[in-house]
Amino acid sequence: MKIDGGCHCGSITYTAEIDPEKVGVCHCTDCQTLSGSAFRTSVRANSDAFHLKGGPPKIYVKTAESGAKRAQAFCPECGTPIYSAAVKDPETFNIRVGTIRQRAELRPRSQGWCRSAQDWVNDLRSVKQFAKQRTA
Ligand SMILES: [Zn+2]
Ligand SMILES: [Zn+2]
Repeated sequence: MKIDGGCHCGSITYTAEIDPEKVGVCHCTDCQTLSGSAFRTSVRANSDAFHLKGGPPKIYVKTAESGAKRAQAFCPECGTPIYSAAVKDPETFNIRVGTIRQRAELRPRSQGWCRSAQDWVNDLRSVKQFAKQRTA
């Protein structure tokens, strides 16, 4: 599936080809912190099918518990996380689904690191809802 997207301020955009069956959620504590949210949703693209425009993004290298290093790319202007990838010669890019224009068509197929998931995420339907800005 062809997709396109970009950061909130528009200084970084991209096009890519992804497999919608590969959309996944990560509940690890690093993703919670780096996304500023309860979990992160990503989809993988091969490097030859991922084309960045504008930018360049700023790179933060995260070291995991395992010692593995991973580049986290974000917009230096607005802070939007764009992707993560291997630090050197990445073969794939994990695109942040919230930046994809077609994100409404991309339903996650799997969830990782569920042991650190916030316990309310599987019960969002029971949380009071507003069609727009919440007032309570
Ligand atoms: Zn931006
Ligand atoms: Zn994670």
